[in-house]
Amino acid sequence: MAKIALCAGSFDPPTNGHLNIIERGTRLFDKVVVAVAVNSGKKTTFTAQERVEMLKEIFKGRTDIEIDTFEDRLLVDYARSKKAVVLLRGLRNITDYEYELQMALANKKLAAEIDTIFMMTESQYSHLSSSLLKEIVFLGGSVDEMIHPLVEKKLKKKLKP
Ligand code: ADP
Repeated sequence: MAKIALCAGSFDPPTNGHLNIIERGTRLFDKVVVAVAVNSGKKTTFTAQERVEMLKEIFKGRTDIEIDTFEDRLLVDYARSKKAVVLLRGLRNITDYEYELQMALANKKLAAEIDTIFMMTESQYSHLSSSLLKEIVFLGGSVDEMIHPLVEKKLKKKLKP
């Protein structure tokens, strides 16, 4: 049976740190489902549809990566509906760890058959977050090697229309 991992997040917008975790995930699993969180209560820079479109464009032609959305439901229930056996997460620092440990333990309690697997960020991405990138682009700094050129273009348009 195909081993499927679920990589969920806001991806507002996706950074090269996210893309790296997804890419490395495909080396370990048959398929990585990338699930963009649609959180009606959360103000995002990009709509869920825009975030999905960016990811689809970036991973165009990849049969081992599926881009989807999930909304207002338990992540483990969504994972079950996708037949995912693993929740794939990236870890940057101790702050990520504290939050992720709590989520992983809660998810394990909710769904014992699903495991959370962590991948250490690669050093060149350890400082990257979507919010930091938005700030750099807004202030006119260079985000070379931090985000995909397509994301950079969309972000510039969004922040400085
Ligand atoms: P969330 O809303 O869940 O915080 P994010 O889109 O910020 O969603 O992140 C989704 C996943 O990607 C998380 O597991 C997060 O730790 C990971 N991630 C984010 N940025 C990086 C990075 N620079 N390097 C490695 N993993 C990252």
